[in-house]
Amino acid sequence: MKAIKILHMYADMLDLYGDGGNMEILKYRCEKRGIGCEIEHYSAGTAMPDFSSYDLIYIGGGADLEQQHISDDLLKCRDGIVNAYKSGTFLFLICGGYQLMGKYYKDADGNKIPGLGLFDYYTVAPESRRMRCIGNIVIRTRITGEPVDVVGFENHGGQTHDVRTPFGEVVVGNGNCSGSSAEGYFEKNVIATYLHGPCLAKNPEISDYMIGYCLERAGATEKPAPLDDTLEKKCREVMLERLTRK
Ligand code: GLN
Repeated sequence: MKAIKILHMYADMLDLYGDGGNMEILKYRCEKRGIGCEIEHYSAGTAMPDFSSYDLIYIGGGADLEQQHISDDLLKCRDGIVNAYKSGTFLFLICGGYQLMGKYYKDADGNKIPGLGLFDYYTVAPESRRMRCIGNIVIRTRITGEPVDVVGFENHGGQTHDVRTPFGEVVVGNGNCSGSSAEGYFEKNVIATYLHGPCLAKNPEISDYMIGYCLERAGATEKPAPLDDTLEKKCREVMLERLTRK
């Protein structure tokens, strides 16, 4: 494979809590293995890209206002993103980006921001702005076939309903809805999650799942070579200790 090609959408508008850092981590983990990683950007008003030419499309999280600002533009990208997803491009979506791939996001003021309707879920924020899901979160995901405890930080008003295939089960925190047991959305080529952090920093298995997916799609028969993740895993262990082992 020449290089993994990534399209990072709306980095200027949807970048809460350093979500853009996820791209640096993916690039770092590719390059450590001698795999090229090219990251291109798309923002409202720039030339419409060929979405299907990318191995992975990434959208971060954002406040309600930013989600409203990009909404019209995102709808213009709908066909391109749908075709890319159907042809196997990986979608990695954080919080606001996750919400906008569903049917809609209704914010605390009752404004309904249409989603691309790629997936069946929908999101509604409570009328009270005080009722937000905020704090550190631990979820257990099994996307690698083994249970992996993933740590991150969530801050969302939106409550996401009708998720058929969650990314993980909630160990600590809220997840898709206040007090829910499920977090995020998952398909073979989709990871959508409320976890900021940026979440890849302390959870190397998620990066490697996506890198492995892109390599396999390009015809590779071997999994990505292991890296020394001692530091990353130690950082995660500190958080797990703090949050789960009282
Ligand atoms: N504005 C959305 C909400 O509050 C998404 C927030 C986010 O991306 N962190 O639910």
